[in-house]
Amino acid sequence: MLLPQQPLQAAAAVPSQRVPSRDEAGPWHAEAACRRDEAGLFFAPSKEPTAARLAREEAAKRVCARCPVMLECREHALLQPEPYGVWGGLTAAERRVVLTRRRRREADIPRQTRMPAAG
Ligand code: SF4
Repeated sequence: MLLPQQPLQAAAAVPSQRVPSRDEAGPWHAEAACRRDEAGLFFAPSKEPTAARLAREEAAKRVCARCPVMLECREHALLQPEPYGVWGGLTAAERRVVLTRRRRREADIPRQTRMPAAG
């Protein structure tokens, strides 16, 4: 089973213990639009200049936008969590923002349930 493709040069930039195991992916991955990403759009090569990173990430997001399993992929990357690469149309930094917001919302739920009912 494949995960968003990691070109060999990009995989070297990612610590090996953090590279997701291909066995961990769900069945959604068989339909991934990035299965044959030979351009290496989804993971950064080492020492990638900022302008090149931004252009690469935007190109990856365009692939994600037409991917039939984008939501499954995004949720996988958020739940793992995947620390590198573009997954489900989100960069690693964007996923951190989503996770932070989720945690804040989850922390607010118990507070809201303790509030006395109005009326
Ligand atoms: S959403 Fe993007 S990263 Fe995820 S499987 Fe589809 S193309 Fe690959």
